[in-house]
Amino acid sequence: MERLKTFIEQKMSMSHIYQPVMIKVLLKNGGIANKNLIAKNILSYDFSQVEYYEGITNNMVGRVLRKNEVVLKHKNVFELKDYSSLGNKEISELITLCDQKIENYIAKRGTKIWEHRRRNRKPVKGSIRYLVLKRADGRCELCGISKDEKALEVDHITPKNKNGKDIIDNYQALCYTCNSNKRDTDDTDFRNLGVKYDLRETNCIFCNYKRETILENELAIAFYDKYPVTLKHILIIPKRHCENYFSLSQPEINAINRLTHELKSKLITEDKTITGFNIGFNVGEDAGQTVFHCHMHLIPRRKSDVTNPKGGIRNIIPNKGKY
Ligand code: AMP
Ligand code: ZN
Repeated sequence: MERLKTFIEQKMSMSHIYQPVMIKVLLKNGGIANKNLIAKNILSYDFSQVEYYEGITNNMVGRVLRKNEVVLKHKNVFELKDYSSLGNKEISELITLCDQKIENYIAKRGTKIWEHRRRNRKPVKGSIRYLVLKRADGRCELCGISKDEKALEVDHITPKNKNGKDIIDNYQALCYTCNSNKRDTDDTDFRNLGVKYDLRETNCIFCNYKRETILENELAIAFYDKYPVTLKHILIIPKRHCENYFSLSQPEINAINRLTHELKSKLITEDKTITGFNIGFNVGEDAGQTVFHCHMHLIPRRKSDVTNPKGGIRNIIPNKGKY
């Protein structure tokens, strides 16, 4: 008793609810429980799952059963029509009928009926998972929520069934909700994700860039600008053809951002004269964009490379650098 009490009260670190739930299940089941039972108990606390099935209840089954006049709805409560006319024996008979329908359906379709809700079939290795979460700074890479508030999962950016690779570049940390939403709401987008990131334009010079690249990852690539404004002026582009910054997806922004950090380290290591950077996107002809495949300029700056650098990118409008 003392050992368990001290553990629960003082030693148990609460990064989530899992530990006390598991101990509780064991306590309630004579000290022994299989992982299925423990998982089901954790699930009973997961409001995101409950929310999901509340949606299904309201929008799918609820609607169909109401249309067929099997149920009535009063606010959040469903009522079986004419329930009061049923006797106990009839109720049991109807329950058995429902059970038979469920069993037959599962027997016919197998586990396929839950395939759309399934996470990566093979869990991502612990060491890679650690690196992905560390790289994401313990936050969801879509909504930014911290791992202390919502459990984070390691997600394939390009899904495996679209030939997404099992490499760190193709992983992102997503919270449970963002990952479920990605899977459930934009089902069509999701199914086309592999195709989306494969998009290339035949006439685009950056889609067809064949010369030396400096660095790349799953979704972005970096090469030297052909007409550099300073030595080692780099362009970082999404591999997918898209017009400008505002067409980028969050995973592409993350991919470009990662390359930016890697290139910064590489540049300041190999070239000690670099003492600053200008980073920027031109969006639209009026803002000076000349190549309409989104690209980010990473421009190394050096002491006294211009007489008066004050204002930096403010100088895109002549004489407005100073304020
Ligand atoms: P922007 O004016 O922001 O659209 O920038 C286009 C950039 O692409 C310019 O900095 C050009 O120097 C650069 N550029 C144009 N053609 C090529 C090319 N074939 N290879 C590499 N960079 C290029
Ligand atoms: Zn392109």
